[in-house]
Amino acid sequence: MERLRSIRRVALAVGITLGSLQMGNQEAAAHSISPEAGFDKARQGQQESIRVWKDPVTLKKFRLYDAIHPWNEMAGWDLFKIVKLERNADVKFVLTVHTEWQTECSPSPQDSYTTCTIDVTNPLSLSSGQHELGHTLGYADHVTDYNIATYPAGLNPRVCDNPHSPLYSQYKGVMSYCTIPKDWFGRDDKNLLKKAGYIKKRVYQLRKNQL
Ligand SMILES: [Zn+2]
Repeated sequence: MERLRSIRRVALAVGITLGSLQMGNQEAAAHSISPEAGFDKARQGQQESIRVWKDPVTLKKFRLYDAIHPWNEMAGWDLFKIVKLERNADVKFVLTVHTEWQTECSPSPQDSYTTCTIDVTNPLSLSSGQHELGHTLGYADHVTDYNIATYPAGLNPRVCDNPHSPLYSQYKGVMSYCTIPKDWFGRDDKNLLKKAGYIKKRVYQLRKNQL
């Protein structure tokens, strides 16, 4: 019975893969900064945790565990893992004097990342931390039409509030300025993780167990 259930799960996973392929490349890449953006080492095949660190002095009150937890829940594994030493970190949360939260990743925002720095500003908002972690995975901002017109929008942004905009996306979730935090980490966010290969694949797991 257990085996039968596993097979059905595999079939379901394959179905989802085909479904996203049929939507075409443009749709599959729509919510990322670029197809390569994000941590390759955390994608299928390698699936190594992205190690996160916060400055223990200035960010003592920032709830890092609560920031990574919903991402890990969705992924079904430790996509993000907290480390104590700065030198072991892939992603660093540091306090900044700037007024905006910001994430900068190298070697370039469009390519596979080796390190990211998240500039944290007061108040130490948990939801901002959760959102910025999405940028370390390579996801683009989904902003309002007004934002696009008035501020320098991030890389490859989408528009969340104007269906007539050529950049419009129906996406609802953690990367959207139009979705309240209570409604984050739902179906669309899980799809983002799937498309980028950050979800634990049962097919891969099965094969590993058989070896
Ligand atoms: Zn953002």
